[in-house]
Amino acid sequence: MPELPEVESTVRALRPKVLGQTLLRAHALDPVFDPVPKSLSLPAQVRALERRGKYILFGLGDLWLVVHLRMSGRLLWEEGQARPPHTRLVLEFPQGNVLFVDVRRLGTVEVVPEFTEELGPDALSDLSFLPEALKGSRAPIKVWLLDQRNIAGIGNIYAAEILFRAGIDPRRPANSLGPRAVQRLKEAIPEVLTEAIEALGTTLADGAYQTPEGEAGDYEPWVYGREGLPCKVCGTPIERIELGGRGTYFCPRCQR
Ligand SMILES: [Zn+2]
Repeated sequence: MPELPEVESTVRALRPKVLGQTLLRAHALDPVFDPVPKSLSLPAQVRALERRGKYILFGLGDLWLVVHLRMSGRLLWEEGQARPPHTRLVLEFPQGNVLFVDVRRLGTVEVVPEFTEELGPDALSDLSFLPEALKGSRAPIKVWLLDQRNIAGIGNIYAAEILFRAGIDPRRPANSLGPRAVQRLKEAIPEVLTEAIEALGTTLADGAYQTPEGEAGDYEPWVYGREGLPCKVCGTPIERIELGGRGTYFCPRCQR
């Protein structure tokens, strides 16, 4: 958390505000982020604002400012309102500021000449690689989906939601899925992610994620975080297990 839908919602909200605009100044309010203003050559025009997997990339001159929100990071658009606590970095534009806010301080902001993170194909791209890729792995399918080198953008919430939509038990080895299950997975990935983007993502009870304009996401999970509650399709209580060290929610009846 945040995952592809939250990151995509963030990028879509910021793009009209900063694309083509000039980043005038940057300053760190947390010493961890001191290197960021020093490594930028400002002012610089934002020539691109992109999402790659769960990363946000600002193209600034020859450089990329790369933001990874990880657990509790978010980017906010500041235009006059009170500055929230835990603001780590301020990017100043003529019309307002982009704030990097992070309560748990696990998120990162880096300036690099090239984005070199090893990522698999984006989860919203053509998924025709899936059948072959799944054949090569015995990892539980949910663990496979979380590995960003296999497919980029899916995290713990949407892996659970996607497997529920596809009717697949999260513990099944990737290479045990038959052609019909693979087909259902291929359809479920864009369906779930697109619905979540339309809802502006998921805001959990901790309230950590908001859009840059301070809105909460409206996506309502079918299984994630619903241990013991009735499955919205069949009424069976949702189960929670540990898989690859992560809490994993599923319906034991709908997912085989
Ligand atoms: Zn069910």
